[in-house]
Amino acid sequence: MAENKRVVMVGIPGVGKTTLLTKIVEILKNHKKNVYMVSYGTLMFEVAKENGLTDRDELRKLSVSEQQKLQKLAAEKIAGHDEEIVIIDTHAFINSPEGYYPGLPEHVLKIIKPTNFVSVSAKPEEIYNRRMKDDTRNRDKITLAVIKKELDVQSGMISACAVITGAPVRLVLNHEGKVEEAADKIIRAIGL
Ligand code: ATP
Ligand code: MG
Repeated sequence: MAENKRVVMVGIPGVGKTTLLTKIVEILKNHKKNVYMVSYGTLMFEVAKENGLTDRDELRKLSVSEQQKLQKLAAEKIAGHDEEIVIIDTHAFINSPEGYYPGLPEHVLKIIKPTNFVSVSAKPEEIYNRRMKDDTRNRDKITLAVIKKELDVQSGMISACAVITGAPVRLVLNHEGKVEEAADKIIRAIGL
């Protein structure tokens, strides 16, 4: 019997995770797979609302310890899903005033128990342009040097996740105009 997959997909803002995941879910649903896709950030905000928060922008202004609590509650919701394939759209780290804060600390990984990690990357210039043209989001001001640094931090964070969980990391480049190819590559690589 095929084992259920819990795939955690990370990438810095604007790399194209949500675009890629939407394509992957579309393909999997066409193949009649029972798949659940969730954005960790959206889920955290839903949990925060249940705890009295009203504005999404208040979320990142909470103390790290309060955010950790919400992170844990969101992880527990995800762990409650038993679909054949659960795909989590998240960040390996979050920029906080105190420094890079892990999106997947050990206590969260122990709850979610990922079977696979996918680390999405792209050329820094492409990421820069995607952030610039995407006006549906209110992104921080950005430079190429910052993007390169973030890609470096992502690589360290996701390696740590692999070591903690024993789950493999698949690196994927989301080339300009090639979302479908990247989606196919991920599906084949992790046998979805
Ligand atoms: P965030 O972490 O902020 O949610 P994200 O990684 O989910 O960001 P998306 O919102 O999926 O990023 O994509 C950002 C922008 O880049 C969008 O305008 C999207 O259409 C575009 N984009 C994504 N992938 C590609 C691609 N392969 N080629 C061209 N444009 C792309
Ligand atoms: Mg997204």
